[in-house]
Amino acid sequence: MAAFNNETVLSVHHWNDTLFSFKTTRDPSLRFKSGQFVMIGLEVEGKPLMRAYSVVSGHYEEHLEFYSIKVPDGPLTSRLQHLEVGDSIFVSRKPTGSLIIDNLKPGKNLYLLSTGTGLAPFLSVIRDPEYFEAYEKIILVHGVRWKSELGYRDYITKELPDHEYFGEAIQDQLIYYPTVTREDFDNQGRLTDLIENGQLSEDIGLPDLNPEDDRVMICGSPSMLKDLVEILEKRGFIEGTSHAPGEYVIERAFVES
Ligand SMILES: Cc1cc2nc3c(=O)[nH]c(=O)nc-3n(C[C@H](O)[C@H](O)[C@H](O)COP(=O)(O)OP(=O)(O)OC[C@H]3O[C@@H](n4cnc5c(N)ncnc54)[C@H](O)[C@@H]3O)c2cc1C
Repeated sequence: MAAFNNETVLSVHHWNDTLFSFKTTRDPSLRFKSGQFVMIGLEVEGKPLMRAYSVVSGHYEEHLEFYSIKVPDGPLTSRLQHLEVGDSIFVSRKPTGSLIIDNLKPGKNLYLLSTGTGLAPFLSVIRDPEYFEAYEKIILVHGVRWKSELGYRDYITKELPDHEYFGEAIQDQLIYYPTVTREDFDNQGRLTDLIENGQLSEDIGLPDLNPEDDRVMICGSPSMLKDLVEILEKRGFIEGTSHAPGEYVIERAFVES
């Protein structure tokens, strides 16, 4: 059996010059858990050119959705950004990843800490009713440089609260906290600083991050991950794995070349 399914592009949305998202058909045999990623790609010079992509769509939805960067001269994204409706892409058959609820011990609040396209896996998580049953509050933090990089902001703040099935849970339990570093915005600063200096907890009205109450999922740039893990470990958080659930889990949003 081939390692990839061929899927058809159903729609494409360009958020700005550097970010876009797209929906594709979904092979009914593909099963994944909220927060996981697959390999997607295109045929280049007769061979598949594949990259890891978190799945944005809900695990119960009929289509797949992805949120992508446009890396200038990036081998895949310089091509992928020209996708059009009806085009075909490869999607691997084996989803994987550490950002799954099974890798976390039960807790009171779940923090989803992301930068850039690290938001992608959490869009799937915040549409999974299992998470709203497991946690009292879900705090989605998205750090970017410019306001135009706050992809899905209107979707999260305007559309999701009216969702037929889980709109009520979104209104009662989800706290969305976008933050911008390079221009004026309601919330400003690096995610790590906002945690360290107590600004985040003050703004959202919850106690400081602590391993007794809080569970954390992190997805972002390798440097942000490193800094956040240092902060969490200083506070006594223990990493969760498929062998032993813990208090936090991490996934790189990309690998530095
Ligand atoms: C587990 C995992 C999940 C991923 N999920 C996504 C996702 O949902 N959406 C997505 O756009 N990318 C995601 N990526 C990154 C993706 O796999 C590719 O690296 C990206 O699509 C660029 O591909 P490329 O061939 O154009 O350039 P590459 O040769 O892959 O990357 C070139 C350089 O661009 C930079 N870069 C790559 N990806 C990003 C990014 N997302 N944000 C900022 N800088 C980046 C890095 O410095 C990298 O070294 C993920 C990576 C991993 C490891």
